[in-house]
Amino acid sequence: MSQEKIIYVDNNATTVIDPDVLAAMQPYFTAEYYNPSSMYDAARAAADAIETARQTIARCLGGIDPDQLLFTGSATESNNAALFGTVQANPERRHIITTAVEHPSVLEIGKELERRGLDVTFLSVDRNGELIIDDYVRALRKDTLLVSIMMANNETGVCYPLAEMAHIAKRTDADIVVHTDATQAVGKLPVDLHTTLKDVDMLSFSGHKIHAPKGVGALFIRRGARWRPFMLGGHQEKGRRGGTENVPYIVGLAKACELAVDGLDDEQTRVRALRDRLEEALVKLIPAVEVNGRDAHERLPNTLNLAVHGIEGEAILSELSRHGICASSGSACTSGSLDPSHVLKAMQVPFTAIHGSLRISLSRYNNDDDVKRIIEVLPVIIARLRKLSPYWDDERHCLKL
Ligand code: PMP
Repeated sequence: MSQEKIIYVDNNATTVIDPDVLAAMQPYFTAEYYNPSSMYDAARAAADAIETARQTIARCLGGIDPDQLLFTGSATESNNAALFGTVQANPERRHIITTAVEHPSVLEIGKELERRGLDVTFLSVDRNGELIIDDYVRALRKDTLLVSIMMANNETGVCYPLAEMAHIAKRTDADIVVHTDATQAVGKLPVDLHTTLKDVDMLSFSGHKIHAPKGVGALFIRRGARWRPFMLGGHQEKGRRGGTENVPYIVGLAKACELAVDGLDDEQTRVRALRDRLEEALVKLIPAVEVNGRDAHERLPNTLNLAVHGIEGEAILSELSRHGICASSGSACTSGSLDPSHVLKAMQVPFTAIHGSLRISLSRYNNDDDVKRIIEVLPVIIARLRKLSPYWDDERHCLKL
């Protein structure tokens, strides 16, 4: 690769650490390295830092009681703790509702619970990537224990009507536990567990999507929700999650949450405008391209998922990479086989485009120049790859049918 500046537009995968986050963490790697559970005075600062971080995050999530927050090692752990912990605590109920478009850290738990004999409904989506509320209402049953619906999809950015769905669950049966994976929502959408999301009992998210490090997450568990600890061990987190707390990362998570809340307007205006400009230009300049989820009621302001007919997403990514542009494809390359994304499959993206998906996800660190560069480079790459594609008619600029 040349010495060009890297243009990082894969922020739904992970984000750069904010310098203020790093600065906030730094003392807890060095001078304040103590175990927060130790009794001597020297350890007090580490213990206090955890509680201050909890209060900060509680404020960022709408001013909830901080005791309802646990620190974890990732959103994956938070999702595991929420789902398995709820199932363990409520053996009398055997039905769970989730969606077919969840991140694997919920989807795979759903499949595992099915293997363990529970009944799991995986709600599908329409061509816009949206859930069908009538299907959801029909799926609720007398023995429904848990509803787990992500706030926003990591691949397409499509947002789900979580507040409404949580309200419907509680109106149907106040004992249904509502969980959400809010990993892609925090920092991009308002997340208020005190007002709009008051019917949500559990919420998971992660640090590394909001400019904190990888390997730290949080789980909100509303007081009164029937749940059993998942990670057994010491008495940390009031016995709800054993293991010595990762003090610097917890401090970093809190700082990142503060910055995310402060930056929400920027995300909703400037970042959205960048995404919209990119989307408009690419749709104009590239023939036979669609925006996955474009007609959804609401999409994350930073996410653009393109369906490029006739070529492979992986080929586009490797060409982009040669130009220093880091993006992602919708398809997960697992153990050498190229399976199309479960999200795009559920949306019934046509065969000619399902392998040609490209996700561009921006952050507050992107600017006009980044967008300009992608608009210069991407249409040329796609035109060149299509010349080699047996599915593309280069004279008529359309798919061979
Ligand atoms: N849920 C969603 C929606 C995500 O996008 C991700 C990360 N790709 C996760 C969960 C998992 O997060 P973590 O890497 O912190 O386990």
